[in-house]
This record gives sequence, structure tokens and C-alpha cells, in this order.
Amino acid sequence: MIFRQLYDPVSSTYTYLLGCAESREAVVIDPVFEQHARDAALIRELGLDVRYVLDTHVHADHVTAAWLLKQAMGAEIVLSMRYGATDVDRAVDHGDVVQFGSCALEVRATPGHTLGCLTYVTSGQDMAFTGDCLMIRGAGRTDFQGGDVHEMWRSIREQIFSLPDDCLIYPGHDYQGRTVSTVGEEKRFNPRIGGDAREEDFVGYMDNLGLPHPKLLDIAVPANLHSGRPASDTRPDPIRWGPVIVTFAGVPEVPPEWVAQHLDELFILDVRSEGEFDGELGRVKGAHLIPLDELRERIDEVPRECPVVVVCQSGKRSAKGAEILLQAGYQKVANVAGGLIHWSRLALPFREQVT
Ligand code: FE
Repeated sequence: MIFRQLYDPVSSTYTYLLGCAESREAVVIDPVFEQHARDAALIRELGLDVRYVLDTHVHADHVTAAWLLKQAMGAEIVLSMRYGATDVDRAVDHGDVVQFGSCALEVRATPGHTLGCLTYVTSGQDMAFTGDCLMIRGAGRTDFQGGDVHEMWRSIREQIFSLPDDCLIYPGHDYQGRTVSTVGEEKRFNPRIGGDAREEDFVGYMDNLGLPHPKLLDIAVPANLHSGRPASDTRPDPIRWGPVIVTFAGVPEVPPEWVAQHLDELFILDVRSEGEFDGELGRVKGAHLIPLDELRERIDEVPRECPVVVVCQSGKRSAKGAEILLQAGYQKVANVAGGLIHWSRLALPFREQVT
């Protein structure tokens, strides 16, 4: 199975991407609204077809990207039926199975943090995505959103600690950089519910957490009860000047075919050396040469009004060039994907040689 753990540093949320290696069908668990473009880029680059977007619960600290990912890739939104939330395609409950290719996730109801919390368990019981139920050396708070500390005790003891000791625990958050644990480890070392802890020990601990009110609760919960669908029904920050795709590496790129058709509207910035610019690979008609190592000093030669498309031999130096322009405040910048090598393979036109 393909597996990636992604992180949102603002809310300390983990997002998980799971895919069937044969069919390329995939699921995303707990995506974060502000990270949807990053996640979509990785999904695209890995060649995955996301069937379902699952949230472990209605979050109070961030808005889900479920609706955005549904719009981008046609995935179905999965959430517990216990919230009665809207914009959910598949309302699930304990015992349901979410299938993607030859892989599957078993749905376990693990209420306590909220009334509809779910834990998703892989079919081999080797991974459990526990959301804010059992966390690494911790457990989610139980003091709002229908939380119940006694239910939390039962959920962890009966639904998670019943899994094999070597089952990996992947939580919804971690605030100290810990990424994974196991059932056996948490049974022994979890300071709230591990070891010889009895229910009254757990309740006593949880009742005295003394946590502040979550900052985003009043925004996140209502938004998440609509699966993160914005009131305006629009996706945030679309790039309108061209078919720009931001890669998982964070580079805005445009396809060479589009560049070739819009040369008159673009400033073509070639960041190779002078020798290469005049060399046998050729150059794009109207291209302006500023070698990459001179770009920072000569940046004023690049206009700010029109879109700037950066090109080099293979698209690597030009990616750095695009980054330098973006850092200097240029708004409409993109790298030519694959550079002139790719341009040449596509048989796109070069400047006619003068000599
Ligand atoms: Fe939560």
C-alpha cells in the first residue's frame, strides 16, 4: 500500500494519503483546507485516483479540505452519520468498510472527543488512524462538542487497545513532532490510560487538563458541518493568468504547449548561460537572457506587469529563477515544465536561427 503522512504546521494536523499500488485508487484522511493544493499536487504526481476523503471527526481547530478535494478530483466525502452534517456523500458508522482498490479501511466508532469520532483501521490491522481519540502519549480533550470522558475510556480500551500490539497508531495531531506509535507502546506508556490506569485515573487526568478554548472553534465547527464547503462555493486563490499548476515541491509550472501559443502575452525569461542561449539547443522566440547567477542583481530588468515565464535547459535552474522572482514580490510567475529539452521533444517552435 502507498502511504504518506503530511503535516500542517499551523494546526499541527496530520493528513494521511493511502493508495492501492495496483489500481492507484486512494483515500485521504483529515485533509486541511489551507493545504489542499499541496495535497492535490502529491496525489497528481503519484498518479493516484482519490475515491474517498475521510474525516475522523468534525474538527474544532482547522477546516477540512474535504469539499475542495471533492471539487478537484471527484472524491466522495465520508464522515460519521452521528453529526448529521451536510455535503457528506457517505455517512458511515461502526462496522462499515471503505474500499479503495484491493485495500480497505474498517470503520470503528470511537466517540469521546466528539460524539462522532471514528478510527479507521487497515484490513490487516497493521495501521489505525485514530484522529483525536488515542494520540501519541495522549488522548483528545473531552470537554466540548459532545465529548464524554467515560465514552473516551471505553473507545480506547475496547476499540483501539483490542488491536494487535504491533498495530501502528497514526493520530490526527501531535504538538511535539512525534509521528507514530503502536498499540503496545501506548498500552504501556500512555500517561493517561496506559499501564495500570483505571477509569477513575483517566477521568481525573482528563478533567484537569486546563486547556484554553480552541481559537478556531466558532469558525471551524460550522464550516466542517458543511464538509468545509465555502459559503461562496468557490475555491480559494485560483491563478487566472494561465494554466498554472503548483507542484508538490512548491514550484508554479505551466505546460510548454500553452507557452508556445501565448508568446506575445508573456515575458520569456531564459536563465541559462550566454553560451547556452546561443548554443545548439536553441531558444524560444523573444526570450530575454538573464543568467540565473545574475538574476538577483538584474531583477529590475524583469517587468512586473505581465506574466513571467522562466525557462532553462531542463526546468531546474528556471524553477529556482521563478522562486527568486516570487520572493521579490512578482505575482505572475511560472516555470516552463521540463525546460527546453521537453519543449524540443514536443517539437514546439524555436526562434529561427539567424545564421
Ligand atoms: Fe479534534
